[in-house]
Amino acid sequence: MLGTLNMLGLAKRCGARFLLASTSEVYGDPLVSPQSETYLGNVNCTGPRACYDEGKRIAEALTFDYHRVHGLEVRVARIFNTYGPRMAINDGRVVTSFIHQALRSEPLTVYGDGSQTRSFCYVDDLVAGLLALMDSGCLQPVNLGNPVEISVAELAQRIIARLNPHLTVSHHPLPVDDPRQRRPDISRAEHELGWMPKVPLEEGVARMVAALRVQEAIPSAEPEMAVVT
Ligand code: UDP
Repeated sequence: MLGTLNMLGLAKRCGARFLLASTSEVYGDPLVSPQSETYLGNVNCTGPRACYDEGKRIAEALTFDYHRVHGLEVRVARIFNTYGPRMAINDGRVVTSFIHQALRSEPLTVYGDGSQTRSFCYVDDLVAGLLALMDSGCLQPVNLGNPVEISVAELAQRIIARLNPHLTVSHHPLPVDDPRQRRPDISRAEHELGWMPKVPLEEGVARMVAALRVQEAIPSAEPEMAVVT
């Protein structure tokens, strides 16, 4: 929120066009599916995810105030779950974690019963959406994400089937306030930007597996391997 405020001030002074990388988390644990930009959300303002959710919500509020009060040109992307090469291996995101675990022949860590859903967008599609948004005249928030929804359990099974059918899953407690479902309604992006994602999950996962194999073979990424002389 403070970073957004600082950047808004800078953009105002420079007369720059401002892009806010907002998030589907502004919808919280949504009570409607798919989520369109007109849905106002269901956010727990005191839970463990609250700083992120509410931080992005106030970032959006500040961004639109700068537009209203100062005439700043703003664009707001609500980014849904995105994955792709070069993500940090240990950042805890589900696609990275599952592929990393599968490559090491470890059980895939499914939180809860795995029935919660997400919709995963490949990074190249997301970047194309962000560029299209910046080139457009769209002054409303725009959902950017892949509308193909999949449960976490199904994601685990697909990665197991692709990489090693002998792998298992291990179940762990569901984090507090973990959203039950998340799927973007991307009609606004389709109409206003002429954008829709192109890379299916199977292909994106294949690209990410190839990248992670290379990444994990780099000695400096693995402290225990770095001592080999
Ligand atoms: N998740 C999981 N195992 C993991 C990491 C995540 O089952 O090792 C679940 C998590 O509980 C959530 C979903 O996968 O339901 C997506 O989690 P992620 O952190 O990737 O994104 P977000 O929760 O922000 O959508």
